[in-house]
Amino acid sequence: MRKLFGTDGVRGIVGKELTPLFIARLALAIGSYFGEGSRILVGMDYRGGNEAIKKIVEGSLVFSGLKVYDAGLTPTPALQHAVKTQGFDGGVMITASHNPPEYSGIKVIGPHGIEIDRDEERIIEEYFHEEKYRIVDWRNYSEDVQRYPLVNEIYINSVVSKVDVERISKRGFRVLVDPANNVGVLTTPKILRKLGAKPIVINGNLDTQPYRYPEPTPENLIDTARLVPFYRCDLGVAHDGDADRAIIIDEKGEVHWGDRTAVLLAKHLVLNRGEKGKIYTGVSSSTIIEEALKPLNTEVVWLKVGSVDIAHAMRKAGDALCGFEENGGFMYPPHQFVRDGGMTTALLLEYLATEARSISDLYSELPRYFTIKTKYKMSRDKASIIVEKVKEEFRNERLITIDGVKVVSRDYWVLVRPSGTEPLLRVMIEAKDEAVAKQLLERIDKLVKEAMNQ
Ligand code: MG
Repeated sequence: MRKLFGTDGVRGIVGKELTPLFIARLALAIGSYFGEGSRILVGMDYRGGNEAIKKIVEGSLVFSGLKVYDAGLTPTPALQHAVKTQGFDGGVMITASHNPPEYSGIKVIGPHGIEIDRDEERIIEEYFHEEKYRIVDWRNYSEDVQRYPLVNEIYINSVVSKVDVERISKRGFRVLVDPANNVGVLTTPKILRKLGAKPIVINGNLDTQPYRYPEPTPENLIDTARLVPFYRCDLGVAHDGDADRAIIIDEKGEVHWGDRTAVLLAKHLVLNRGEKGKIYTGVSSSTIIEEALKPLNTEVVWLKVGSVDIAHAMRKAGDALCGFEENGGFMYPPHQFVRDGGMTTALLLEYLATEARSISDLYSELPRYFTIKTKYKMSRDKASIIVEKVKEEFRNERLITIDGVKVVSRDYWVLVRPSGTEPLLRVMIEAKDEAVAKQLLERIDKLVKEAMNQ
């Protein structure tokens, strides 16, 4: 059975993969998955075709007997928060997150506000492929799709209620916001204003052809990063298209990867807010989190790569301090279990207000690692063989084998894992010393070449 769902929802190029027929069939399958009469909240980010996609989705859900509410333009975490807190049975978010502008997609949200899990996705895929749709009698169609315009306001107020507004306001922070011409502009600047901060927004008009590529990586944020010191900001925040990620830029213009920000936030939660619990993250995150938080007796739970699995694991276990992905997705369970760009920003400002130091100073305390990321094209079977070879080669080190293999040593770590979505072997290396990182890459490279010649 062909998989429709990737790591996070269904994605495709609008008009090529996401055709009107495909969208209608997928939405009917989603509608059939939820019980008849369920209340479903539909939202979208700003991408070419999304308004049309939304109409097809909403119409199809009505045909399958659901009560449909339309949140309009909204970040994914705002929609998820409304589903969880406003008594909805589920939600549908139309977004391709960080993908290039020609893409859109669909995320299906369960009643707890988290994207549905892998087993639930499989049920929808089965309905799709077997065309097992529930189409109800015309007498039972809900009257109309009802507008539900409060989603962003509810989210903004909820984020602000979770932090010390007075303490943050006293500092009068200046914050550069780059929402990539997308829906983050509807919430993050307002959160900042309520926290007494001055938002300086760039790429702030909604545009289906964004001026900045939607994925907030250091390469894509070169121009944004320059503007943080230029406008004398205390920090900068860059979101992806649906604003569940927040990548932070310090006041000097350096872009910090999400796992470094997560370490700062976890420290803040434990030391300043007196919160307790474990930290949940994917194996692709840096082990600096273990090193930096060891003195605080905070345990790290390593999981498969993918934010949805992290969110579900935290919800099931009930013992999480926080969760995160290295790409800038930070999850704060007292607000919600999912990645949440607005909450991340507010918590970080609270930390900065508590410490009364510059943000670059806070980052500078973290250990510095030299990073190499690379990939090899190969079949999944070959990739699995190489994973076994790496286990053998590094058998005397600590190995985490939950997703590929992660070798953790005192001064370095190496992750070798087959990609979840493409025929690739992904390799990530971090070492305190550049020469050590390069030697490790040579060792992995040799294992790959040997395996390919067999
Ligand atoms: Mg996203």
